[in-house]
Amino acid sequence: MDLIHPRTAADVADALREASTSGRRVLVVGGRRHIDKGNPSGVDAELWTTQLDGVVAYEPAEMLTVVQAGMRCDALGAMLAEHGQEWPADAPPEATVGGVIASGSSSARRMRVGPLRDTVVEMEFVTGDGRLVRSGARTVKNVTGYDLHRLAAGSLGTLGVITQVALKVRPLPERRLTLTAPGDLPLATAIASEVTLAAGVVATTDAVEVRLEGWAGEVDELAAAVTRLAPASTPEDLPSFPRAPWWTWPGDATIAEVAVAPSRLVGVVSATTTYAALAGVGLAWVVAANEDELGELRRRAERAGGIAPVVRGPGGLGSADVRGADVLRRLKRSFDPAHVLAPGRSLADLPQTR
Ligand SMILES: Cc1cc2nc3c(=O)[nH]c(=O)nc-3n(C[C@H](O)[C@H](O)[C@H](O)COP(=O)(O)OP(=O)(O)OC[C@H]3O[C@@H](n4cnc5c(N)ncnc54)[C@H](O)[C@@H]3O)c2cc1C
Repeated sequence: MDLIHPRTAADVADALREASTSGRRVLVVGGRRHIDKGNPSGVDAELWTTQLDGVVAYEPAEMLTVVQAGMRCDALGAMLAEHGQEWPADAPPEATVGGVIASGSSSARRMRVGPLRDTVVEMEFVTGDGRLVRSGARTVKNVTGYDLHRLAAGSLGTLGVITQVALKVRPLPERRLTLTAPGDLPLATAIASEVTLAAGVVATTDAVEVRLEGWAGEVDELAAAVTRLAPASTPEDLPSFPRAPWWTWPGDATIAEVAVAPSRLVGVVSATTTYAALAGVGLAWVVAANEDELGELRRRAERAGGIAPVVRGPGGLGSADVRGADVLRRLKRSFDPAHVLAPGRSLADLPQTR
């Protein structure tokens, strides 16, 4: 396996141009914390982004920072915290900014902070055949052209390499509070629909964790609303939310990520033994002990109009029925005409059934 360690976007462009000419298949690697997501892909080389880790600009007053995509999330978090700000990714410390965006991850606090891709206002990106393109703008009013940066979010390194991003950042909340109560997903769903200003509501098999943040008085009011619905709640000031994020679950059990309409989540997930579900959002991470459990979960997700790809361990995308596969294929052809970026990994490579 060849390793490519670019130091500049031009190095990335050279490497991908060469790969497209020679047919060398390339996997883009950031912090390697989410590398199982998507179908497994046989490759000849890994392109590591971790030396593209500089800060290009940071204007706290503008609530904007421009960083290279290989910057680690802990380094970015420390820089922003010095100015009372954050990029609300809540990703593992070793994860890279580009990896978080490319894997389509978002914070469990997204009821409050929104999806992470909305924080990306500008992107520098190298296509599979080595073209350096830029999308978006640092000032929101200045945007013209296609939102390629939105397309790159969640593309799992199959369309190109993100080399630099401009990110909107936000002030750290004055106060944060986690309320933990005995309960289940139906309770979490009730809390998420009543306390709509909560930052996040996570249900596991036997507990519900609610994250509140904002001004002190606001947090007190929200906490009172949660306690009315879950009187046995215990309040704590915890730095991370949820207390044990799914990516820190021990062992190597297979984890599938269920995505369905929020109202269908209970039906898909409640019967499983180990899960963490984001109430009000329609996402859940479920341990599948074996292929039968995975198959059953996928069937329930499909009946509910959703999907359940594996995001840790073997299993990939399964035989998901992909809407718009033809559009995805055309995008893949335009961005990576030689098909060298993680071939087989994306939905575009699944057999078309609709
Ligand atoms: C089961 C599981 C669930 C998770 N769920 C969440 C979650 O809900 N929210 C959350 O915040 N975090 C989640 N994470 C944490 C996740 O590891 C990080 O958010 C992040 O995706 C990892 O970044 P990384 O740099 O390690 O990416 P990597 O693991 O190195 O790469 C992830 C994907 O992005 C591609 N890629 C990496 N860098 C680039 C780039 N510069 N340009 C183009 N493509 C690139 C890779 O090819 C790969 O397909 C989860 C992790 C796991 C294992």
